[in-house]
Amino acid sequence: MAVRSFRYVDRVGRMQTITAGRTHVSPESEDYERFPSAFAPAQVAARPLPARSAATAHPAPPVQLRSLATLPNTILMARSIRLTLDSEAARSQDGNESGGFLVGRAFERGVQVLDVLGLPTAKRGPRFVELDGAAAERFVAQFSSSMRIVGTFHSHPGASHAPSLLDLGAWATFYTWYPQCRASLVLVPDLEDGWPWALPTVRAYMLRTHRRDGSVVVEPASVEVA
Ligand SMILES: [Zn+2]
Repeated sequence: MAVRSFRYVDRVGRMQTITAGRTHVSPESEDYERFPSAFAPAQVAARPLPARSAATAHPAPPVQLRSLATLPNTILMARSIRLTLDSEAARSQDGNESGGFLVGRAFERGVQVLDVLGLPTAKRGPRFVELDGAAAERFVAQFSSSMRIVGTFHSHPGASHAPSLLDLGAWATFYTWYPQCRASLVLVPDLEDGWPWALPTVRAYMLRTHRRDGSVVVEPASVEVA
């Protein structure tokens, strides 16, 4: 049974609603595989909901992935940040995704990444990694208020950078929770290399809210390492 309420886009593009105390799933289901911590065995599901249930108050809006950006989007980072991302992605040598959050400053058409929060204890599988927003909140709380959660990153153990429907739903959800959380990086191994995770390739996306219909637009972005 679900112990928190949220919505997400499933693998065929439908918006799914999970309602705490009401939705039951099988342990084999996509819902459970993607959000294992959102469910508990029915006999213990009566425990109180977490105090923070932003997903309930602000369900994720529809998401559209575009192949071209209307205006350039840029994700800026120092070389040390890029190296940190590469080593975080290299956890995927075990065949499971890895990921975490990007912390820094956001501006109109991009973000500047100033720190990276890896999540080595996240629940991980070949096609998902569960990113814990509460961990990101605790992390940014250490910094001055100008530092925000500005994005997420995760690896794909296969060779495709393309975000899955689950990725799009998760990105939109984090964007709803954290309005500056607009950058999304996907790192994939270089399968031509004898050490595929030595220099993973990165593809970047930026989220914004569609001016008219309020949907979330996901567009490509460039990464600038300086
Ligand atoms: Zn993904």
